[in-house]
Amino acid sequence: MKLAIIGGGWAGLSAAVTATRLGHHADLYESAGVLGGRARSVDAPGLQQRTDNGQHILLGAYTATLALMREVGADPDTHFLRLPLSVRSADGRFSMRAWPGLPAPLHVATGLLTARGLGRREKAAALRAMSLLRRNGWKTPQDATVQEWLSLTLQPRALQDLLWKPLCIATMNTPADQACAQLFANVLRDSVGAADRQAAQMLIPRKTLTELWPLRVEQLAASGTLCPDRGGRLEIFRTTTVRSLRYVDTRFNATAGDSDTSGPGSRRLQLDASGAHYDAVIVCGNTPSTAQVLGSLPTTTGSEHFLKQLDRFEHAPIATLTLELAQPWTLSPPMLMLHEDRHRGHFGQWLFQGQDPQNKRVHVVISDAAALQALPRKLAVAGMITQLREQVSGSPMPDVLNHALIIEKRATFLAVPGLGRPGNATPWPGVWVAGDWTNTGYPAVLEGAVRSGRDAALAVHAAASGRL
Ligand SMILES: Cc1cc2nc3c(=O)[nH]c(=O)nc-3n(C[C@H](O)[C@H](O)[C@H](O)COP(=O)(O)OP(=O)(O)OC[C@H]3O[C@@H](n4cnc5c(N)ncnc54)[C@H](O)[C@@H]3O)c2cc1C
Repeated sequence: MKLAIIGGGWAGLSAAVTATRLGHHADLYESAGVLGGRARSVDAPGLQQRTDNGQHILLGAYTATLALMREVGADPDTHFLRLPLSVRSADGRFSMRAWPGLPAPLHVATGLLTARGLGRREKAAALRAMSLLRRNGWKTPQDATVQEWLSLTLQPRALQDLLWKPLCIATMNTPADQACAQLFANVLRDSVGAADRQAAQMLIPRKTLTELWPLRVEQLAASGTLCPDRGGRLEIFRTTTVRSLRYVDTRFNATAGDSDTSGPGSRRLQLDASGAHYDAVIVCGNTPSTAQVLGSLPTTTGSEHFLKQLDRFEHAPIATLTLELAQPWTLSPPMLMLHEDRHRGHFGQWLFQGQDPQNKRVHVVISDAAALQALPRKLAVAGMITQLREQVSGSPMPDVLNHALIIEKRATFLAVPGLGRPGNATPWPGVWVAGDWTNTGYPAVLEGAVRSGRDAALAVHAAASGRL
């Protein structure tokens, strides 16, 4: 079968690898010059080295992503720095660390009991909330926000501010008073609640995001070695935007140059970008770009509802400030929580050690960054540099040589309760979708994107097998 994949983010690439390995011929079209989508490397003006569009952190629970990386020969053990789940404030006043020697769930429970900066009341409340979730099969009240769940489980204000709200914004890029409690609980279930204690580990990339594995897929595709034994083939067309799709009836199409039609009169799909014909198409853009492509197809039963669903997604920005420093600056641990105080221009929420082997580079991450986006950049950067100088205990931050502030305006969709998230199938025959916004059970995260791409390719394969 020949299929087109539109979008070379982690969902599209996951679909491409899966389809190719199942023996299909896939053509992947990507608008940008680099693969990776919202998780990609960029040349930021002002910086000496290539960087990422934003610091990403993965979890040990991201099993589909780790399996995919192994499949393409990108070894997660060398590509990530693995840390036990830990949250430590930059000023050292709060710290919580899962105990690596203990079995799950004791590792996290003991981490909470021995946390610094929490009183007895806060620790008891955190443990109560976790055990309540576990007892309820990780179900939260329908359509509750994280804030409502925190109130229902009587979480003290200090605990909310120190632990729950920063975790919510970091995992969902949605503030607690808007974020869907069930999605938050799903992340907790699969990480800190999992039987395998490695699931709660935090994985920090040691390479830039495109180098992590997308580039490897491109190399395997170019050399024809992605699927040598089953006849699958992947071709990647970068800097190629697909704007529309249309159905063609291959009975009348002797000039299309396709020899692999699936029978007389079969309906195939054609892309404006290449003119090639396909048995199936998987659209893997974000919701606005997916809606644009699907909107070019003829109206069919359920298609208006489908497009309206996509229209309801709202997005939130994430900003990342990268600083290149005059001297090495070693953060211990390599990820620290910052105290956000927007009134003072202290927008930073997390501070990461960069991938630089000399430790002369750090990243400051700001989720839900709409307020920062509205500020003049110079002011925003100066505010965060002051914040680091004030908040990070231990050795003072060396002079800043270069900086880059990257704001991804549509970093993630807002993970609010009651959001209708479709699966991989669409009302249009032969057309499928994948992306972090589909019904993955997760907020907008890499693992959701990878799973949804894989599942879309499996669904296309199953549909094709059923037809043959
Ligand atoms: C700054 C930032 C920080 C983040 N931090 C984390 C984190 O720490 N952990 C985590 O798990 N997740 C994080 N995320 C979320 C994560 O990056 C996304 O969930 C994931 O990358 C989404 O992948 P995707 O393939 O679904 O979509 P995308 O990455 O958006 O990929 C879609 C691709 O399709 C292409 N495209 C769209 N339309 C067309 C078209 N018509 N023709 C051709 N190409 C098209 C686009 O150019 C893009 O490359 C973060 C995101 C950002 C932006």
